[in-house]
Amino acid sequence: MADCLFCKIITGDVPSEKVFETEKVLAFRDIRPQAPVHILIIPKEHIASAQQINASNSQAVADIAEVIPKIAEQEGISKQGYRIVTNIGFHGQQTVEHLHYHLLGGRQLGWPPG
Ligand code: 5GP
Ligand code: ZN
Repeated sequence: MADCLFCKIITGDVPSEKVFETEKVLAFRDIRPQAPVHILIIPKEHIASAQQINASNSQAVADIAEVIPKIAEQEGISKQGYRIVTNIGFHGQQTVEHLHYHLLGGRQLGWPPG
């Protein structure tokens, strides 16, 4: 998608600090980290949000699920724990319309979210 910030991060047109990459998935550090570890995990295929997941593209979610434990291990937070969250639409406060999972950790996180 020509106009999509995260598609530009995938192509390298917008720089990012990559932490993990496979053929299908990219993970990079959030530019405004909300925790000591704050990584965004995205499919290389453009999907606008989790609301657009269906039978033909849901493999992207499995691909992301598979890399999460590896990234947590790599970042040294797998034992203490962490959070995965995806914001959807206006009420979810999604600001970038390319499916992304936030991986947050490295400190005690609050719950429930505001
Ligand atoms: P959302 O608000 O859609 O759930 O998450 C979007 C995330 O993307 C935010 O946490 C924001 O800080 C991050 N972000 C926005 N622009 C950039 C950017 O250019 N580079 C990186 N690495 N993160 C970005
Ligand atoms: Zn995109």
